[in-house]
Amino acid sequence: LWRRCLERLEGELSAEDLHTWLMPLQARDSTTGLQLFAPNPYTLDTVRDRYLARIESVMEQLTGHALTVRLEVGSSSPRPAPATRPASAPAPAVQEPAAASFPHNLDPHYTFETFVEGKSNQLGKAAAMQVAMNPGRAYNPLLLYGGTGLGKTHLMHAAGNLIRQQNPERKVLYLRSEQFVGSMIEALRTKSMDQFKQRFRSVDALLIDDIQFFAGKDTTQEEFFHTFNALFESKQQIILTCDRYPKEVDKLEPRLKSRLGWGLSVAIEPPDFETRAAILLAKAHDKGVAVDENVAMLLAKRIRSNVRDLEGALNTLAARANFYGKPITTDFAEETLRDLLATHAQAITVPNIQKITAEYFNVRLQDLLSKRRVRSLARPRQYAMALSKELTEHSLPEIGEAFGGRDHTTVLHACRTIRKFVETDTRMRQDWEQLIRTLTG
Ligand code: ADP
Ligand code: MG
Repeated sequence: LWRRCLERLEGELSAEDLHTWLMPLQARDSTTGLQLFAPNPYTLDTVRDRYLARIESVMEQLTGHALTVRLEVGSSSPRPAPATRPASAPAPAVQEPAAASFPHNLDPHYTFETFVEGKSNQLGKAAAMQVAMNPGRAYNPLLLYGGTGLGKTHLMHAAGNLIRQQNPERKVLYLRSEQFVGSMIEALRTKSMDQFKQRFRSVDALLIDDIQFFAGKDTTQEEFFHTFNALFESKQQIILTCDRYPKEVDKLEPRLKSRLGWGLSVAIEPPDFETRAAILLAKAHDKGVAVDENVAMLLAKRIRSNVRDLEGALNTLAARANFYGKPITTDFAEETLRDLLATHAQAITVPNIQKITAEYFNVRLQDLLSKRRVRSLARPRQYAMALSKELTEHSLPEIGEAFGGRDHTTVLHACRTIRKFVETDTRMRQDWEQLIRTLTG
């Protein structure tokens, strides 16, 4: 029953929430209702506050009657009776679970096979694979950073899964940084810091997701710093993700930042159009949803923000098509996703691109649109033109028109110039990506 409930919730919650909070729960059906066991009080509180009501209503739908769902900290398997030992025997050392039963928290679906490679994530994928093939020896730590929904968590799980596939004896532990914080607070509260330390330091690979969450949490950073050092020194693999380059995370201790730079940091960038379309087709295939290339192209063209949104759109489409018993054609997609596509298109008008680009480069809008050719204006103007071409459906002449009546060849030249720079110049590529993020985020 609990499994079916989870399947239902899968469609509603982000994979991350599901994995962080609901998958770790263990269930026991009883005659009076459902009993859920949380691994720690932190998880328990979060589940109760955020998900309990929803779980109860799904349970009611599934069973046809109201069920009480009880939450407690613990485990569904009855505790083994304490072995009797002579009073004189020394207390047993902290029990360490064997590797096979080690609670790694990895999602088996997130693998390298299901990860679609493109220019934007090629390096990240290659690095994660290398690390997984030689944990502790290739790059340590490996840090994947980049905006939300771009596949960092997926790659991290893929690396963890591959490490275990290579050698099932290896202990891999995946945690979201909130969970790390949660267990630490719990350990402090129950005065079991030794076990906490032991738990983290006994692994072959420690994977911590979204470390920007450590910002401002001094005790956590301190503890993480020590864990990091211990693992690093004994060549255990550390893989981390962050939503931006760690040097740019405020309130992260400088010594921690510097440690993070000891290994390899790789940016995961937003996928380009072709990769978005390929990801969409792959996801549709996995889900057994018939989507043709035109639909994939339509969605890939219009939803640029991130892969998660793209996947969300596909899920909506599949559910509706199923409900109405209709095939997913481009018309059906346009119709079904009208509001969603409109939201994604909202910011993306030529005037808005001009305004945001002007703000970004700190020039006045009227200067950007003027005929003045000084370099300090010409470059931002070219960005704005290239962005208009990239992000809207307008033709070159239309874009030229919107930029104070310029010729379409000027626009074409701007697009080519910017593309060349974006490919060769890191600084300019960052500007370009930042602008795209602002406009599509
Ligand atoms: P992040 O951790 O960067 O926020 P996730 O790893 O959670 O992003 O990715 C969001 C969703 O998009 C996941 O369902 C993931 O499987 C999917 N995804 C992202 N990039 C790819 C890719 N290149 N190929 C296949 N799926 C992807
Ligand atoms: Mg993530």
